Amino acid sequence: MKKLASPFVAAVLLLSSLPAWAAKPLLIVATVPELADIAARIGGERVRVESLAKGKEDIHQVVMRPSFVAKLNKADAAVYLGLSIEDSFLTGLLAASANPALRSDPIMQCSGPGCIDCSQGMSVLERPETLNRAEGDIHPQGNPHYNLDPESGARIARNIASGLSRIDPANAALYEKGLKEYLSELEPKVRELKARAAPLKGVKAVSYHKDVAYLGRFTGLDFIATVELKPGVAPTPTHLASLVAVMKEQGVRLIVREQQYEAKTVDWLAERTGAKVAVIGTMSGSLPGTRTYLGLCEANLKALLAAAGKE
Ligand SMILES: [Zn+2]
Repeated sequence: MKKLASPFVAAVLLLSSLPAWAAKPLLIVATVPELADIAARIGGERVRVESLAKGKEDIHQVVMRPSFVAKLNKADAAVYLGLSIEDSFLTGLLAASANPALRSDPIMQCSGPGCIDCSQGMSVLERPETLNRAEGDIHPQGNPHYNLDPESGARIARNIASGLSRIDPANAALYEKGLKEYLSELEPKVRELKARAAPLKGVKAVSYHKDVAYLGRFTGLDFIATVELKPGVAPTPTHLASLVAVMKEQGVRLIVREQQYEAKTVDWLAERTGAKVAVIGTMSGSLPGTRTYLGLCEANLKALLAAAGKE
């Protein structure tokens, strides 16, 4: 028995003396590509990151696939935007999966030790006084589209780093280092974008969906109305007629169309009002050059400046 035990003990000792980085990488499942990008930057070789959405989808209508359930079953962590924005897919996928680290939660979307909610500590705009899904409202916890403000990037990165450290404390120093390196690239770039956005301050605009509150905060654009009747509700002819009147009256010359929304109505509106259309992405991977979070921020600002004639 003693002879048999020795090699076994030696193997255990060898394994336990291996440095932490030699362990199998964590599988991180992000809901959207920009969160996958940031998580990969922070986790480096310690993580393998996959995104459920590819980027061109409407985040409110991402289609659930069986392969997503399989990924979540194997995941060590789920990284998501939160504030109910992934309700169309994350909540149902977690309910269908059987990962004790990631459980479905009707309000928080995800509960369990592997959940990394990137909205933690975010100052939420347009928050209703009570949780409300009346009349088709798909923003029941306030506006969840904070990823469109480049200044949200640092908070997202910090939330991911602290989530990874919580799940994998042995490598906390490595995640802290990854965070510092990412912020040293992100923060100067965001300051540069902010300076370039200055000519947009006070420019009146209309967006298709009500996802531009944070983008308006960053750029100073004054978003006065949406093409949609309300979040998730398609425009009616009456709404469009009154929108044309309001845009003419207020001299609105800029329409923001998120690339996932149909061009026909927006082009019709532009023709009637003489406004120019800026096509923006709401996720990384939605438009050329937007593979990373910073690429998305850069492409969106360029599109806005060009359509507003402020290049
Ligand atoms: Zn929305």
